[in-house]
Amino acid sequence: WAKDRGKSTVAVYESGLHALALEKMAIRGELQVAIREQQFVLHYQPTVNLATETITGFEALVRWQHPLRGLLPPATFIPIAEQSGLIVPLGEWVLREACHAAVTMQTPVQHPTIAVNIAAQQVVQNDFVDLVIDALEDAGLEPQQLTLEITESMLLDDMAGAIERLAALRSIGVHVAIDDFGTGYSSLSYLSRLPVDILKVDKSFVDEVCSGSHGASVTEAIIAMGRTMRLTTVAEGVELPEQAAWLQGAACTMGQGYLWSQPVELAAAHHLLRSGVPRQRLRTEIPRPNR
Ligand code: C2E
Ligand code: MG
Ligand code: MG
Ligand code: MG
Repeated sequence: WAKDRGKSTVAVYESGLHALALEKMAIRGELQVAIREQQFVLHYQPTVNLATETITGFEALVRWQHPLRGLLPPATFIPIAEQSGLIVPLGEWVLREACHAAVTMQTPVQHPTIAVNIAAQQVVQNDFVDLVIDALEDAGLEPQQLTLEITESMLLDDMAGAIERLAALRSIGVHVAIDDFGTGYSSLSYLSRLPVDILKVDKSFVDEVCSGSHGASVTEAIIAMGRTMRLTTVAEGVELPEQAAWLQGAACTMGQGYLWSQPVELAAAHHLLRSGVPRQRLRTEIPRPNR
């Protein structure tokens, strides 16, 4: 009896897995069509200078405009795109689209940068450097206006090759940021060998800066390290004025988060560039942290 029950549990479990595998296969097939038919859109989230709360640039974040299911966030399809290798053509589309969008944002007085998330499989491609250069030239964007966001973990596979390619791009002026910094396993000696300009402090630490837990110490340590290594530090996922004030007091260079703006469509990004993000008046209204 017990054995029978066990069996049926296994059967249910297996059919559940089966359904999940089928679902993944379906999405994978749809993704192929979506790339061909360009069913993707980019949304743009500003990064602000914490001292002035002025926009320094935007991060391009991809969404899938699914014909039946509506606008899908990256978490629903990026992992499948990575597993299937489709992230390579999708990533190329994102890069080219983002470079074109960045050109439309340039004015005589504003030169916002564009940050593009890059998956490990893209950097591993032999023609990655050529692709980035071609995307820049095709759009007519200065290399200095482009930032490539990579994660710590992605460099562990083909470290030498990846470092070489990123260094080549940096030598022509492209900036490199480490995304979600602090969540990976990179040692300090490893970090010092990476061709990097910017550290993005992961949201999980930024969430905790005012709560008295260890996130504040980790954030302070990352900012201090960034300063020593002459890197720009960007706090991700800032939602509260208190967090922004704390970060400003800790001399973090830049901030990004819903406090200033969610990721928005290109037209709305243009509007933000003209009107600015809502100012928090951090210096005057909120006392700086005791230190
Ligand atoms: P990420 O690069 O770390 O991007 C930050 C994510 O945090 C974005 O989610 C953004 O909308 C969200 N975010 C920003 N500020 C706040 C805030 O104040 N509160 C909260 N709760 N969230 C905030 P999104 O757009 O869903 O993207 C998730 C992840 O998907 C990205 O994390 C990135 O790893 C990946 N991704 C997005 N676009 C691309 C792409 O074009 N290529 C690749 N390879 N990955 C991408
Ligand atoms: Mg990012
Ligand atoms: Mg991030
Ligand atoms: Mg993140």
